[in-house]
Amino acid sequence: MKKIAVIGTGLSALSLAYHLPTLDITFFEKSWRPGGRISTRRHENYIFDHGAHYLKEDNGIIGFNEFLHKINATKILNGEFCANIQNQLPIEKKQIIVGQNGMESIPLEFHKYLRYPTNLSTQINKIETINQEYYLHTEDQEYGPFDFIFCCIPFEQSKNLLNKFIDFDVLSVPNFDSIWTIMVALDKRLGSPFQFGYHMTPEISFLMNQNFKHEFFSDECWVVNMRAEWTKEYYNIENYVLEDYVIDQLKKTFQSDAKAVFKKSHRWKYAYAKKSLNELDSKNFIESIDHRLYALGDWCHGPSMQDAWLSGKKLAKHFSELRVQL
Ligand SMILES: Cc1cc2nc3c(=O)[nH]c(=O)nc-3n(C[C@H](O)[C@H](O)[C@H](O)COP(=O)(O)OP(=O)(O)OC[C@H]3O[C@@H](n4cnc5c(N)ncnc54)[C@H](O)[C@@H]3O)c2cc1C
Repeated sequence: MKKIAVIGTGLSALSLAYHLPTLDITFFEKSWRPGGRISTRRHENYIFDHGAHYLKEDNGIIGFNEFLHKINATKILNGEFCANIQNQLPIEKKQIIVGQNGMESIPLEFHKYLRYPTNLSTQINKIETINQEYYLHTEDQEYGPFDFIFCCIPFEQSKNLLNKFIDFDVLSVPNFDSIWTIMVALDKRLGSPFQFGYHMTPEISFLMNQNFKHEFFSDECWVVNMRAEWTKEYYNIENYVLEDYVIDQLKKTFQSDAKAVFKKSHRWKYAYAKKSLNELDSKNFIESIDHRLYALGDWCHGPSMQDAWLSGKKLAKHFSELRVQL
């Protein structure tokens, strides 16, 4: 059986592995856990989904929500939602899909379902070829040989790994927005009339209460996303300055005297794909001339989890149609 290496364990990697026919697949993941930008951070009693927040019910991808439900990765919630907080738009009820036990349940349950061997805490920084077979390298180890390699990582990182084999000069560059996220636990309720909403201030694009997602802790927890343009301008802001600024903004907006009992911030360098490969070049993935090396990810189709799922699915279909002798 042909040997396949999948670099990354984000949703695009998991989707690819799921949609490929049964193969000798091995995952390589630089983090200690699968999931990439779908990430749940736990601290004592606090839980924060500080990457992807929720999945839309009507995301337009047939079978995606159903699959996640089947593997018990998700649950449906009803929340109070405000589309524009600053402009005081009316609060509406909104049904969303979230992870069963934090958003991380989505990649964790999915990865468990697939049962493919996985090398965690393994950052691949070089790919080499000898006699049409491929080898992966970390700082101190070599893995291989492999017949096919799929890089399911952000575009720029794929380019760094693959530019010896693929002419990136002839391709357009799908670009990403970076996003600062802030996690805050408060000793009192903020008194917010909604649980999630957009456009709180010119700097804050989104915020979501975590208690209604996780249902069991006493302090009030929020995740706040700064706007992409703001993040660009304050890319190197000190974490504590940012955290204090956001807490101040929350208190002002809700006229609250709550105190922060926990705060943490994280900058996602590659948060949302701004222009996808498909939009730019009408392509669904990138491949080498010998059809053995591929790059894919949400950035092939758009900025969301459903785009990552679609990206894996489309490449798996193409790969199966190549009628490669597997
Ligand atoms: C703050 C934030 C909020 C978001 N909110 C939502 C939302 O509410 N709804 C929604 O649908 N989407 C949301 N998204 C987008 C969604 O999270 C992504 O579209 C999706 O998770 C991307 O999956 P992916 O597999 O393409 O990439 P990733 O999740 O980035 O996966 C790439 C994986 O590759 C690993 N990796 C990278 N380089 C290497 C290497 N050299 N060697 C080994 N492993 C490597 C990484 O550690 C990572 O696990 C949000 C994203 C962010 C950052």
